[in-house]
This record gives sequence, structure tokens and C-alpha cells, in this order.
Amino acid sequence: MKKTFFKKVAIVGVGLIGGSLALDMKRLGPAGHVVGIGRSRENLRIAESRKIVDSWTTDPARGAEGCSLVVVAVPVKSVARVVDSIMPVLDKGTIVTDVGSVKEKIIEEVEPLLKDGVSFVPAHPIAGTEHSGAGAALTGLFKDKKCIITPTPATNQEALNTIRELWQEVGSQVVIMDAKLHDIILAGVSHLPHVIAYSLVNTIASMEEKKGQTLLEFSAGGFRDFTRIASSSPEMWADICSMNRTAILDAIEEFQRTLEELKESIARDELSAIKRAFERAKKIRDAHIADG
Ligand code: NAP
Repeated sequence: MKKTFFKKVAIVGVGLIGGSLALDMKRLGPAGHVVGIGRSRENLRIAESRKIVDSWTTDPARGAEGCSLVVVAVPVKSVARVVDSIMPVLDKGTIVTDVGSVKEKIIEEVEPLLKDGVSFVPAHPIAGTEHSGAGAALTGLFKDKKCIITPTPATNQEALNTIRELWQEVGSQVVIMDAKLHDIILAGVSHLPHVIAYSLVNTIASMEEKKGQTLLEFSAGGFRDFTRIASSSPEMWADICSMNRTAILDAIEEFQRTLEELKESIARDELSAIKRAFERAKKIRDAHIADG
């Protein structure tokens, strides 16, 4: 396989995902000089001290100048604004890519902003943690994880191949998918669980208020495991809910139907129906975990 190499790369948003990609691009070869671009100097200083970036700036256009690759790793509602602000300084042949958790809306907003000779390759690595910022960046985060690329008829084939190689070089298994399908799938397996985790914690908080009694101090591993992702960045997840609204609403409705069924079985004390529902879920999850 041809080794991808970018002499100068800009990472806009040096957080968990942008920072982790920068670390691996430097460690594994695809990047020469990495420029970090962000809003807060404090975060960029952390990125510099952790050697995630070689230089940094809070001025996107200045940072992107002379880069052959720009990775936009900011919350999904800000991706188009960033692309718009850097477009005038990009050279012909530059590839812009993103890592956003929503694809259709980003494509809809970004593609009209592209000037001649600049390519956009929409991508989404399926990897992460509940932590944010440059301090949370990890080497090897993408190893053996999927990265979904959602090209459109306008995507330049050469640029697509380059971005596919980049993700393969950091250890990901690349899947090419239609953006709409991506958004429906991720609404189910990622966005819905986050919505439920945030809601569950708020449910417990409301119960505490109503009962004037602390509940959380009696919680154990189950609650902790279930709600880990409720510690994720509220800014990032509010953006995702807004940008993938239709698919998330469909997923919430499906969840409400399933929960209502279970509620009915519990209300009627239908032990066999309750057991059937739990057995079905356990079988599916156990098989999924066994599959790795
Ligand atoms: P993060 O750790 O919060 O990093 C985002 C970074 O973007 C922050 O460090 C922030 O830096 C910077 N930023 C925010 N708005 C900006 C703007 N307008 N211009 C420049 N910099 C800006 O978040 P993340 O988890 O890496 O997520 C980044 C992207 O990856 C999102 O689109 C998300 O949907 C996607 N994603 C996340 C995960 C996950 O599990 N977390 C997984 C896959 C994909 P400042 O401190 O300077 O504001």
C-alpha cells in the first residue's frame, strides 16, 4: 500500500478526536508538521506541551495556509463555519476532511462552500471516550475501530482514496457508506444511547428533588456503566441532536414503543413477557460482545 504523507496538516479543533488523530499521524508517519487551530489558547498550549501539535494559532485562515490537508474536528454545527473561514487561503489540491458524528447535514452545508480544486471528504471515526479537549487525546484511539467515509457524487475519487489510506494507516477499518444511512445507524447505536444516558441521570435528579432523598449515593456499578456517556461534552451532543434531528426523533420513538411495551408487561405483572424481553436483549448483546 502507498504510504500517505502530508508535509503540513492543519487540525481545527485539537480535542479528543482531532488531537488523537494528530498524535497518530505524527507517530505513524502520515504527517510532517501539524498546526493546531482552536478557540482557546489554554487548550492549544496543552496540545503543544503534549507534542500533539508542532505549532498553533487561534486564527483558522492563518493556520490553514500552505496545508495540503485540513482536518476539521470541531462540534458538528461549527464545521461549515470553519470551512468557510479557511476556504480563501487553501491551495488547489488541498483536501479538507471532517470527523463529525453527523454526515448528511455537514455535507449539505460544506459542499456549496468549496472552491475549485479543493476537495471535501466526509468521514466519521467510530471511536471515542466521554472526555474532551487536548488533554483527553490518546495514541492508538482508532486502532481496530471502524471509520465511516460517506462520499457523495461530488467527492473527488483521488481525495477519497487518500483519506481512506490515512485512516487505514492509523489502524482503522474503513467502511464506505451513504450519508443518510450513516445518520440513521448512528442515531440508533450512538445518539439514542447518549440521549437516554443524559435523561436517566436527569430522571434520578428529579426523583431526588421530589422525594427530598438522595438516591445517587446508593448507586453502584450498573448505574455508573450505563451513564458513563452522560459525562460527554454537552456542547458537542446538543449539536449532534440538532444536526441529526429527524433520525434521532425516529430512534427515540422506537425506544418509547419498546419501553412502553415493557412498562405494560410490568404493570400487568406478565412475568413471561418480561423475561422474554430481557432474554432477547441478553442474547443479542452477549452475541455482539462475543463477536468482539
Ligand atoms: P472535543 O474534545 O470537545 O474537541 C473539540 C475541539 O474543538 C475543542 O478542543 C475546541 O477547542 C475546538 N473547537 C470548538 N469549536 C471550535 C471552533 N469553532 N473553531 C475552532 N475550534 C473549535 O470534541 P471531540 O470529542 O474531539 O469531537 C470533535 C468532533 O468529533 C465532533 O464533530 C464530534 O461529533 C466528532 N466525534 C466525536 C467522538 C467522541 O466520542 N467524542 C467520536 C467520533 C467523532 P477550544 O477549547 O479551543 O474551544
